[in-house]
Amino acid sequence: MLNTNLRFSFENFVVGSSNQFAHAASLAVANQPGNSYNPLFIYGGVGLGKTHLLHAIAAQISQRTPGLIVEYLSAETFINDLIHAIQYEKMRDFQKKYRSIDVLLVDDVQFMATQERTQEEFFHTFNALYDSQKQIVVTSDKVPQDIPELEERLRSRFEWGLIADIQLPDMETRAAILNKKAKVEDMDLPSDVCHFLARHIQSNVRMLEGSLTRLKAFAEMSEEPISVDMCNNVLKDILSPKRSFISIEEVIRIVAKHHGLKAGELKSPKRAKPISRARQVAMYLCRELTSESFPEIGSRFGGRDHATVIHGVNKITALLEVDSDLQREIQQLRKSLMA
Ligand code: ADP
Ligand code: MG
Repeated sequence: MLNTNLRFSFENFVVGSSNQFAHAASLAVANQPGNSYNPLFIYGGVGLGKTHLLHAIAAQISQRTPGLIVEYLSAETFINDLIHAIQYEKMRDFQKKYRSIDVLLVDDVQFMATQERTQEEFFHTFNALYDSQKQIVVTSDKVPQDIPELEERLRSRFEWGLIADIQLPDMETRAAILNKKAKVEDMDLPSDVCHFLARHIQSNVRMLEGSLTRLKAFAEMSEEPISVDMCNNVLKDILSPKRSFISIEEVIRIVAKHHGLKAGELKSPKRAKPISRARQVAMYLCRELTSESFPEIGSRFGGRDHATVIHGVNKITALLEVDSDLQREIQQLRKSLMA
């Protein structure tokens, strides 16, 4: 297992349109703490990279300017520290500690809402640091105005600086994250498996990572290479349920239409190039989007055998590596089918 700080670095953070802004703001803060955006408020749903960015900021600042006191903590830690200080009458130490920090990174600040005393202490800490131009970065699952029971004065402080959001990553970013993670973990991740996972696991990045971890473990135990079949098997419970609603017939219909052909032509024995190419594309998408087996897919394409389907899928998989027109076509077809 890699060291957390190393793993949660800027280097290991994949940038896509969903997180570009938060990433750029984090980098700016890491490069010039206290002098760019202050406070920086990062918000976004669960498992989208907020904690990762906070650690990346902390690591980069500590590395570049070892003298600075950089403190990463969750809102819960702040609350517990405060409770402890109150209980043992150590408020002075508490205040001294927090007010001597140069870079304060507070994760999941929404947990401070409803905690009156915490908010008050945090408000004072915030002011003390802000007034001495110390950097503050906080994350939350919502924008300040949507955090219920957050005191108005804190809310307005959070809105003083820059508010950056992280959205769900798109398909390409999900694939890039998987590839990066596989590389870091020294895993062999075939590109059809990568696309399959990126397509079906859309909820958040943590789920994507979890799926890789499970595949890796399963591949090691079974001594089999990672494959789409293995995904269907091992990840049954997390693969998006939408998939089971896409039928082979639907794939054939949509692909045929896209190519200006009739569904019957894809099932026929005809081997003219445009028809056989469309047929292979349809087989590829059946494999990716339905949970049907090779023999089942073959039988629906006019009784072809499983080897023909495997050949078709492999052919398209190989072409996808080099043919950007085909990539776009598949992308478009996926969209129509998943719509
Ligand atoms: P959050 O704090 O928003 O709930 P995390 O920062 O804990 O999410 O991210 C969940 C997991 O996903 C972490 O292992 C993190 O490294 C990974 N992750 C999230 N976004 C990215 C990204 N853009 N590139 C690489 N890994 C990411
Ligand atoms: Mg987090």
